[in-house]
Amino acid sequence: MTTHTATILTLAALIVCPPAAMAHEDQGKPVITTETRKGDDGKDVLYMFIDGVKVHETDVTKQPLPPVVKPGEGNGFSTPPSDAIVLFDGSEESFKKNWTDTKGGPSQWKIVDGALESVKRAGYIQTRENFGSCQLHVEWAAPANVAGEGQGRGNSGVFLMNQYEVQVLDSYENQTYADGQAGALYGRSKPLVNACRKPGEWQSYDIIFHRPVFDEQGKVVRRATFTVFHNGVLIQDHTVLSGGTGWMGPHAASEYKAHPDKLPIAFQDHGNPVRFRNVWIRELKDKPL
Ligand code: MG
Repeated sequence: MTTHTATILTLAALIVCPPAAMAHEDQGKPVITTETRKGDDGKDVLYMFIDGVKVHETDVTKQPLPPVVKPGEGNGFSTPPSDAIVLFDGSEESFKKNWTDTKGGPSQWKIVDGALESVKRAGYIQTRENFGSCQLHVEWAAPANVAGEGQGRGNSGVFLMNQYEVQVLDSYENQTYADGQAGALYGRSKPLVNACRKPGEWQSYDIIFHRPVFDEQGKVVRRATFTVFHNGVLIQDHTVLSGGTGWMGPHAASEYKAHPDKLPIAFQDHGNPVRFRNVWIRELKDKPL
């Protein structure tokens, strides 16, 4: 067979049988491997590797930390546009109207100086309303009184669809694994850069999220995507979320599991008094498959 004939046959095969990923625009094709090893205590530990890098890898020669970028003064703050749904405007009234605890009851989080503060052991809060694909603006501040280190310092989280976490952490001169620092899609994708402001200072996330799509068998046919700006700086560039961000042990994250098209937005209680303000959302239409 000549090279020319082989090329024509290859092109013909692609036209007749397009790869499934092309048909569904499923751009996320990470190579994910797992293995179980014995931990120091003799218990099994599940290790997950995404494109050859261990989840929550702390060795910076294998998982380099994102470079630090100082955001511009005032970058990232914005009042809600006219078509946004305001989820929190600083008032007790908007908190009670739009947010509940995880069981749908009143939450024990508190309003301090017009900000919503996470209360230890009060649990996550979530919106009464359900959302799918959206543009979400959130402003947050890690505690000015620095306590703890690594994952224990200013930890909270912004959860899309109650499960896909954009990590909130005081990552200002506070080292942790790259896929768990501020702006990481937890355990799945580190931020491009570290644009954290100092503890106590207000910061912002602008998140453009497209929900995952599942087929009738519950298999994901289009993965979620995230574009995230941290204090006006791009930190996730249309990142295709390779799977869930739920905790599955120290070195593994959860997989996709079919769920409804819309679910609440949630903020995490991780035991640290992280504050939130100026939360608004604009719903986005899903693009056809
Ligand atoms: Mg968190």
